Parts: sequence; C-alpha cells; structure tokens
Amino acid sequence: MASINTKFGKDLKKYGAFDFNACYNCGTCTAVCSLSTEEDSFPREMIRFSVLGMEDGIKSSLKPWLCYYCGQCTTYCPQTAHPAELMMSLRRWLTSRYDWTKLSGLLYRSLPVSILAMVITGLTVIAYAAFKDFDLVTVMHAGHTFEMLAILSVFALILVPNLIRMWWFTILKPKVKASLTAYIKSFWDLIVHMFTQKRSLDCEDNQFRWFEHFILVIGYLALLFTTVVLDWFSNESLFVILLGYVVSAIIFIVTIDFVYDRIKKKKELSRFSQASDWMFVVWLALMGLSAFAVRLFIDLDLLERNLWLYLFHLIILVQWALIIVPFGKWTHFLYRSFAMYFARLRG
Ligand code: SF4
Ligand code: SF4
Repeated sequence: MASINTKFGKDLKKYGAFDFNACYNCGTCTAVCSLSTEEDSFPREMIRFSVLGMEDGIKSSLKPWLCYYCGQCTTYCPQTAHPAELMMSLRRWLTSRYDWTKLSGLLYRSLPVSILAMVITGLTVIAYAAFKDFDLVTVMHAGHTFEMLAILSVFALILVPNLIRMWWFTILKPKVKASLTAYIKSFWDLIVHMFTQKRSLDCEDNQFRWFEHFILVIGYLALLFTTVVLDWFSNESLFVILLGYVVSAIIFIVTIDFVYDRIKKKKELSRFSQASDWMFVVWLALMGLSAFAVRLFIDLDLLERNLWLYLFHLIILVQWALIIVPFGKWTHFLYRSFAMYFARLRG
C-alpha cells in the first residue's frame, strides 16, 4: 500500500497553503467552480493529491493553472479548507519545480532571502552610479542598455528553459501524444490566452477584474515597448512622449487598485497575500509611477538636479527584471498561458 507523503503538506505550507487537511472530500468546491469541467475537474482532486503528498501527480498536472483564483470554492467550502489558497500555493510550488535555478523556491519560501536579493540589487545599482560619478547621461544610457539585455537574457536563460521543463513534466513525461499539426493549430490559443486571459470571464462576477487585468497586460506591454524599443526617455516625438505618460499612468492606477483590494481584504482572492503577491503589485505600481515622474522631470528640465529620481526608477526596474520577472509572480502569466496551450494539446 502506498504511504502518505506528509512532508509535502509541510513543504506546501511554506508556499502559502493552510488548513487544506481539514478537507473531508465533499466535492462542493468542484461543484461550484465555474471553470471545472468533466475532463479537467478541480480543485478537489488537487486537494486530495496535496493531502496524500502525490508530488508527481501535481507536477504533471495543469489544473492549478486552469484556476483563475475567483475564490468561489473557498466561499462555499463547509470545512474552511481554503481550496482557492491551496490552488494558489500549488501554482507557487509548481513555479519552483519548473525553475531550473531553484531560486524561485528559495524566494517563495523565505522572506529574508527575498529582501536580501532586493537590497543587493538596489545597492549594486547605487554602486554602479557612484562608480560612474553619478553622471546622469552615462547612468541613463546604462539603464536603457540594461533593459534590452535583461529582457533577452532572462528569456533565453531562465524562462525558455523553464517552459521546456514545464513541457517535459506535463506533456513529454506523461507520454501525451500530440501531432505537430496540433501544436501549430493550438498556438493561436496560446497567443489569445496570453493577451486576453479570456477564460477568466467564465468566473462568476469577474468582468471588472478581467477588464483590469486586460488593461494592465496591454499597458505593461505598451510601456515595455515605449521604453525599450522607442527609448521613451530620449525620444522627442510628442506622440511617443504622450503614449508613455498614458501607459505608465494606467499601470499605476490599476495596480494601486489591486494594492487597495489587498489592504481592504474584502474579496476572497485578496484576503491572503504572500510577500510575492505584495512585491508584484507594489513594484508594478512603483514602476509606473517612477517612469511617469522621470519623463515629467525630463520635460520640466529638472532631472539633471534630481538624479536620485532616475536612480530610484532604475533600482525598481532592475529588481523587477532580475527578481520578480524570472522568479516571482510575473511567471504565472507565462505558465498559465502555456498551461492553456498544453491543456488543449492534451484535450
Ligand atoms: S468543499 Fe472543502 S471540504 Fe469539500 S472537497 Fe472542497 S475543500 Fe474539501
Ligand atoms: S478559485 Fe475559482 S477557479 Fe479556482 S478552483 Fe476555486 S472556484 Fe475554481
């Protein structure tokens, strides 16, 4: 008889899970979940797997990514076993398993390590600026070069290998048969889900949240394009300048609303926030705000005397690009989109 792996449950708690052992397997959570289907039924199965410690079953599953964290299951659970939180913690755990560097797991499990990583990157930026005699032009040029290099290297060295690992765990290892035609045909789905996350519209009363997420994704990608490709801080085109102001303001406004929700804790999905959740929304808000302020100071001819503002923006940017994007909550956006793609291949 197979033994129960209790160590897994203890490990999962470090990723934010709690009280899931209270589950008595009634199935209410699965019944109320608007995204659960006959072929892909959750969250009860994932709770069972977690209670029994079936790591391999979870690692090969895409179900944690098919959940959009609406919180309905938790609302109706008679045992207050918090199934929605369990699904969230499974996503964090899976992220740590896909990550070949193992840094995701380390950062998720330890707040002091996360703080230390943030402090080291911040101090490195300040040390570099000091090394360059706090020369604004040099530091800004380095900041722009960093943006381009960071995007390319984080994708090539971290995110792509991690996606290949996810593919291995969920498609190749379980011997899912999918033709090349299926891969090509389903690719459009990947793009659509990545940009729209439209499946979350099936969650009850989720239209406004979906709209906020949609605006945030578009705003984020537009800011990336404006700053990296169009070099916003040096661009003289009025259209580009205004575009940058608009998208950075959108990012700030939407993320501040997310921060407000997490502080108020009125909705099920914002009642329990881990450090990684806070970092994601706060850093995104700071990025929008600081980018807006830097461009404003450039236009008012004030940045030369206020290098600290650009340094602050650069620190936020470096921490975002080197910690939150490759190892933090940003990756959920990528893995969830690929999970939809892989689920389609499996289907
Ligand atoms: S509703 Fe609660 S008790 Fe019932 S199966 Fe789901 S988590 Fe377990
Ligand atoms: S949080 Fe929502 S989508 Fe996720 S399992 Fe619960 S009811 Fe389903």
